[in-house]
Amino acid sequence: MSWTLVIHGGCGAMRPDHLPPEQEECARAGLGAALDAGSAVLAGGGSALDAVEAAARVLEEDPAFNAGRGSVLTAEGRVELDAAIMDGADRRAGAVAGLTTTRAPVSAARAAMEHTPHVLLTYDQADRFAAVHGLEQVANDWFVTPERKAQLDRILAAGGKFDAEVKFGTIGAVACDVHGHVAVATSTGGLTAKRWGRIGDSPLIGAGTYADDRAAAVSATGLGEAFIRAVGAHEVCARMRLAGAGLQEAIDAVLADVASLGGTGGLIAVTPAGEAAWGFTTPGMYRGRASANGREIGVYSDPERR
Ligand code: ASP
Repeated sequence: MSWTLVIHGGCGAMRPDHLPPEQEECARAGLGAALDAGSAVLAGGGSALDAVEAAARVLEEDPAFNAGRGSVLTAEGRVELDAAIMDGADRRAGAVAGLTTTRAPVSAARAAMEHTPHVLLTYDQADRFAAVHGLEQVANDWFVTPERKAQLDRILAAGGKFDAEVKFGTIGAVACDVHGHVAVATSTGGLTAKRWGRIGDSPLIGAGTYADDRAAAVSATGLGEAFIRAVGAHEVCARMRLAGAGLQEAIDAVLADVASLGGTGGLIAVTPAGEAAWGFTTPGMYRGRASANGREIGVYSDPERR
C-alpha cells in the first residue's frame, strides 16, 4: 500500500498577478517544506497521525500562514490559537482553543488527545496543560508580525468588516499511511478582529476537522461560522459512508452547502485507499499533495496558472 499527503495553507482572494510575487514564493516554499516533513514520516512507514502533526508544525512556524507565528490578531491585538488532530483508525481526537502562549498548538491538541480523557481544552488552562506536557511557551508577542498588525488596523478602520480580498490562512494536513489509516490536523489563528472568545470551526471535531477510516480525513478552511453550521468535515464523511458519494462529489456538495449558508472556503481530503481530493469556492487556495509518485503545489484555480 502506498502513502498520500495533502495539505492546505488557507483559501481566499489569491489571483494570478494580484498576489505579490514574494508572498507567493514564501507560501509555495512553506508548503514545500511541510510536504517534505510529512512525506519523510510517511515514506519511512510512519503513521498518518505523526505525518499530519509534522506537516502542521512546519506551517505553524511559518509566518506566511495564519497559524502559530504570523496568526491573525483579535480585536484586542493579541493572538488566540485553535487546533485539532484526529486519528481515523479509532476516531480518537484532541483539540485546543484560545491558546495564547503555546508555540505548537497542534502538538497541544495531540497531547490533549493522548493524555486526557477530554477532547477540547480551552484558553489559559489549555496553555497550562501544554506547559505541563513539556510544550514550549512563548510570550504572545512572539506570534505577532507587523503585517498582521497592519491588517488588523485596516479591518478595524473599516468597522470590523472583511473586504472581498480576505485570505483565510488556516493550515491543515490530511494523510493516508502505508497501513491504510487516515488522520487530520488543522491549526489556525481564526479570523482577524475576532472578539468575545470567538472560536471557529478548526478545533471543533466534525466542523473543520474530521477523520474516519470508514470514509476519509478532512480539513477545512474558510468562514468558520458556516462550516460549523454545516458540520462540514463530518458531512463529507457522512455523505461518503451513508449516501455512497465519491470523495470529490462529497467535497463539492459540502462546499455548495457552506455557500448556501453564506460562507466561502475550501476542503482537502484523503481516503484510506489513498485517494486525494480538494475543492474551494474562493479564487485560490494554498495547497499541496505528495505521494510516492511525486508532488504538486498550487495556489490558483486557473488550470493555466496553478
Ligand atoms: N476557518 C478558520 C476560522 O474560521 C479561518 C481560516 O480558514 O483561515 O477560524
